[in-house]
Amino acid sequence: MHPFALSRADDPGTAIAAHARDPHLAFIAGGTDLLGLIKDRAALPERLLDINGLPDMARIVAPPDGGLWIGALARMSDVAADSEVRRRFPVIAEALLYSASGQLRNMASIGGNIMQRTRCAYFRDEDDIPCNKRRPGSGCSALHGLNRNHAIFGWSDGCVATNPSDLAVALAALDANVIVRGTVGERVIAFADFQRLPGSTPERDNALGRGDLIVAIEIPTRTEGRGSHYFKLRDRQSYEFALVSAAAAVAPDGRRIHSARLALGGVAHKPWRLTAAEAALRGISLDDTDALNSAITQSFAEARPLAHNGFKVELARRVALRALQAAGERA
Ligand SMILES: Cc1cc2nc3c(=O)[nH]c(=O)nc-3n(C[C@H](O)[C@H](O)[C@H](O)COP(=O)(O)OP(=O)(O)OC[C@H]3O[C@@H](n4cnc5c(N)ncnc54)[C@H](O)[C@@H]3O)c2cc1C
Ligand code: SF4
Repeated sequence: MHPFALSRADDPGTAIAAHARDPHLAFIAGGTDLLGLIKDRAALPERLLDINGLPDMARIVAPPDGGLWIGALARMSDVAADSEVRRRFPVIAEALLYSASGQLRNMASIGGNIMQRTRCAYFRDEDDIPCNKRRPGSGCSALHGLNRNHAIFGWSDGCVATNPSDLAVALAALDANVIVRGTVGERVIAFADFQRLPGSTPERDNALGRGDLIVAIEIPTRTEGRGSHYFKLRDRQSYEFALVSAAAAVAPDGRRIHSARLALGGVAHKPWRLTAAEAALRGISLDDTDALNSAITQSFAEARPLAHNGFKVELARRVALRALQAAGERA
């Protein structure tokens, strides 16, 4: 095991300043991803700063006029069990409950969840085989290697990995915001801009830099929130990352769709929003499966499957339809 020094922070300003000035320091919350990365030698921080003592960051707030504010240190299990989360945005509770295991969810934080790194086996391999995300410029072993679990949208020759977070898919569908505090104060990052596509810098997963601390996730009021659902398909029924998943949220007008939100997981370096499908779904009856299917298909023109994951194209279409219909039944 790579050795590291551990200290504890009780003040956000001090934690942010320490992170900004020391490139070998990492924040640790639940440790459920970071410690695995250290064991695999995919992360080698010399100092870990435990942020669990920072005040006011584990709360879940449900304002009377709608929406949600979820502190970055709230545990996945607490958020999934919260009655207002379940009532206002069932898609969030379901995405969390389909993640990891009960014990992991008790430890793992919301901030850590959206920061977790890809499960690409080459990236996590202890033997440090070529991987641009792990060692920039070394090549991508998955591009012409085993890529069954990899991306079908938005990949580059530099990296074809997918993002493993289930919660992120729900947050993308709901256009959530990430509240970040850095050395120059607080800023709000739209979730669509938080996680990145790989391009030529796959080593960067998201928009954060040194000295940036996630304080909370904010979900604005959404008319589609209550009619929402998360559907996850995986190689085994529990304790497994998504092969393909979908978050759907619907506001109906009678049996017709007034507005819909759809995002896919397991298909790209970040949650993949189906915006063309969302536009095409307006006005379609929730009972007209053929019309729903052809609207969803409009978002698949840009799919680019790899050698071993062509099956994901049809699978993702079906998963999106199933999530949408289940969301519609709940609305
Ligand atoms: C066996 C296993 C199965 C899993 N299955 C799933 C699954 O099916 N679906 C799923 O979504 N996830 C799954 N996970 C991942 C799990 O959800 C994450 O490991 C967890 O959410 C990370 O949270 P944490 O608090 O433990 O983060 P840590 O491990 O403490 O931190 C992770 C990263 O986030 C950074 N960080 C943490 N908090 C902050 C903050 N407030 N501001 C800035 N940076 C921060 C840390 O520096 C680190 O880089 C699984 C994990 C394991 C080990
Ligand atoms: S897909 Fe990305 S993470 Fe996986 S080997 Fe290629 S560069 Fe590394």
